[in-house]
Amino acid sequence: MFKDEMLQAPSQPLPIALVGEAILKEHAIEVRDFDTALSQLAEQMALSMVAANGVGIAAPQVHSPLALFIMASRPNERYPDAPLMDPVVVVNPQILSASAELVSGEEGCLSVPGQRFSIWRHQTIVVRYQDLAGHWQQTELTGFIARIFQHEFDHLQGITLLERSQMPEQTVMAQAGNHQA
Ligand SMILES: [Zn+2]
Repeated sequence: MFKDEMLQAPSQPLPIALVGEAILKEHAIEVRDFDTALSQLAEQMALSMVAANGVGIAAPQVHSPLALFIMASRPNERYPDAPLMDPVVVVNPQILSASAELVSGEEGCLSVPGQRFSIWRHQTIVVRYQDLAGHWQQTELTGFIARIFQHEFDHLQGITLLERSQMPEQTVMAQAGNHQA
């Protein structure tokens, strides 16, 4: 292969970190440089997400300590009404407020292959984050997109579905849910 071809070769999906790996337990680091390297990382994350058939991916899942993730909702078997959206890159996210209303739903995770968990999430959240240019965005998210945001936000706090599903509020809420069923 010629050198030019190698340089222009499309990037490959990155290996996905699996539960048990230290990077998934760490708090992510604030992004300060909105440079080409950050854009390239986001591009590779998007590629890895699509390759793994995911609807979201956080930087720690591709062994980066930075506080960013991608959400890309689309209708799927479990959430047929999920909206189809272009991937959104979310940098340095904050959850400003969250609805008291919680909804339970099944979630999987690229880092916890083959397992699904019933997880309670806020139905609606107001969030703030920076885009790849460093500009602050503020928006309200609801339903499946809010669920993806909360799942990926957890990753940036070092929390995977394994920890989340064991949290006391999940147990309490799950029991309450059963009583209603
Ligand atoms: Zn995940």
